[in-house]
Amino acid sequence: MAVYQAPLRDMQFVLYEMLDVETVLKGLPTHAETSRELIDQVLTEGARFTTEVLLPLNQVGDAKGCVLDTSTHEVTTPEGFKAAYRQFVEGGWAALACAPEYGGQGLPIVVNNAFFEMLNACNQAWSMYPGLTHGAYECLHAHGSDEQKALYLPKLTSGEWTGTMCLTEPHCGTDLGMLRSKAEPRGDGSYSITGGKIFISSGEHDLAENIVHLVLARLPGAPAGTKGISLFIVPKFIPNADGSLGPRNPIFCGALEHKMGIHGNATAQLNLDGAKGWLIGGENKGLQAMFVMMNAARLGVGMQSLGLTEVAYQNAAIYARDRLQMRSLSGAKAPEKPADPIIVHPDVRRMLLTARAFAEGGRALTFFTALEIDKELNHPDEAVRKDAADMVALLTPIVKAFITDNAWIATSEAMQVFGGHGYIAEWGMEQFVRDARINMIYEGTNTIQSLDLLGRKILMDNGAKLKKFGKLVSDFVEEHGTDEDLSEFITPLADIGQKVTKLTMEIGMKAMQNPDEMGAAAVPYLRVVGHLVFAYLFARTALLALAKSDSNDDFYRNKLAVARFYFERLLPESAMLIRQARSGVATLMALPAEAF
Ligand SMILES: Cc1cc2nc3c(=O)[nH]c(=O)nc-3n(C[C@H](O)[C@H](O)[C@H](O)COP(=O)(O)OP(=O)(O)OC[C@H]3O[C@@H](n4cnc5c(N)ncnc54)[C@H](O)[C@@H]3O)c2cc1C
Repeated sequence: MAVYQAPLRDMQFVLYEMLDVETVLKGLPTHAETSRELIDQVLTEGARFTTEVLLPLNQVGDAKGCVLDTSTHEVTTPEGFKAAYRQFVEGGWAALACAPEYGGQGLPIVVNNAFFEMLNACNQAWSMYPGLTHGAYECLHAHGSDEQKALYLPKLTSGEWTGTMCLTEPHCGTDLGMLRSKAEPRGDGSYSITGGKIFISSGEHDLAENIVHLVLARLPGAPAGTKGISLFIVPKFIPNADGSLGPRNPIFCGALEHKMGIHGNATAQLNLDGAKGWLIGGENKGLQAMFVMMNAARLGVGMQSLGLTEVAYQNAAIYARDRLQMRSLSGAKAPEKPADPIIVHPDVRRMLLTARAFAEGGRALTFFTALEIDKELNHPDEAVRKDAADMVALLTPIVKAFITDNAWIATSEAMQVFGGHGYIAEWGMEQFVRDARINMIYEGTNTIQSLDLLGRKILMDNGAKLKKFGKLVSDFVEEHGTDEDLSEFITPLADIGQKVTKLTMEIGMKAMQNPDEMGAAAVPYLRVVGHLVFAYLFARTALLALAKSDSNDDFYRNKLAVARFYFERLLPESAMLIRQARSGVATLMALPAEAF
């Protein structure tokens, strides 16, 4: 079985040394009282809960999966999942980042995110049940009526009820403008919803007494396309005004998908047969409302992949120190043993360092983004809120796509460190690879994230959001540009900053002539911008680590070594990606469709 030790020291480094969350939170009235002691306590207890309760269920959940009883339409989750969920609810974990007025603990998103990294490292499939619940909470919190909030939010906060997001239909996933589910007014303020949804995560299960489905559907006469989509709350059991459960709503699980990974999470086909629903966020405004949930979920997917990257790395590192094969090329390192541990081999170290750099960079990026969300939601100054909102908008597709692509590489490299044993189920390494793969697909595929970044977030506002990030980079370069010790980090950071500016302008010009140019460039472009963001965060890491180089604390020496590895071994990929992004659309379109 895989092991896991929550990376609390590195989390603390990012939170307190890199982001200085204590000072930032003091400036946010809602979080001014959140002390370092409280955050540390939450993280320590969270580490205990996730490693003791969830980690032992990860392989069992993968092997057993969820089971649907077709006569009752009820789903049984793998053994142990329900008891773990009860502990989660009793421990108040579901309420961590929910508002106190609904029974929540009101902690910052950045703390909740750190907790979700640990949850996902220990058990991604299980963690999707509370993960989607929190997304539904945020959507209702932002768009629900006072009455809806009063009825649903306390139950989602406590975790007594869970949530889902029901967008996808058999004929439409990316292109939600084509969705067909219908909502007819019933004349009493509610709607009758009919249609079929597929691939609904946590769509049916036995963990909680009720499931709050957030469903996209069309009203009669709604405009075609995405402008005619509305959002509805469709509870599995219709609650009475006091929150007790009323009648069963006809939204039934027709089948569970058999899939590559995350077996412990029920991916449900849901049939709505005149199910009763209530409108959220106004007629035909469903997609805007759902975007709150989708954005939260996109960051959540980044956290899933970060957790998997970390746990896969940790297990590979332990194995590499232990496994004896061959001798070091530069002479035996463990002559008393029949062979050297494989960690002496440079390429094994390359694989380990790749995974570790992706974990450390991913942690810095996701925590940075989460703190910007806290500012966006709570800062008293409107201009700061707006800047933070722009930063979140820019970084969200990068968190989703860059970190999930990296995790696919990292989990695969970590598996490779195990040789053939990695491919065998016993060690748990191949499960990490399988679980990591979905993260590149759902919540909008990584291609869609790239189009969102380049098209909507950058070109559509003439690069204004990107410039705000660029200002962080140029300020850093200006401030530290004369520091010789930092030049190995500053020079390549400044270089990629300039290249991104040039590349963006070039693609923008080409896209004006032929919009397909944007589609041809978007995927490598996102990865280049991902590297710009990582280079900035690793340069900041290096600055902090260098300042502590006399401290005799290995932690800082190791941070510096990983930052150097990132700049020398991973960042150079951006040169190739820039060439790809610049190469244009012609070769992609040269082959006629029938020739494929
Ligand atoms: C395990 C699992 C869990 C899921 N959970 C949920 C859930 O909880 N709720 C929910 O509503 N959905 C869920 N989904 C659905 C998921 O979000 C969709 O599968 C995903 O958004 C892609 O949609 P699709 O499968 O219809 O693929 P399609 O939209 O058919 O896309 C097929 C391919 O075409 C590409 N493509 C499409 N349009 C473009 C374009 N304009 N430019 C370039 N490439 C394009 C896509 O990137 C993709 O590679 C889940 C799916 C799975 C497998």
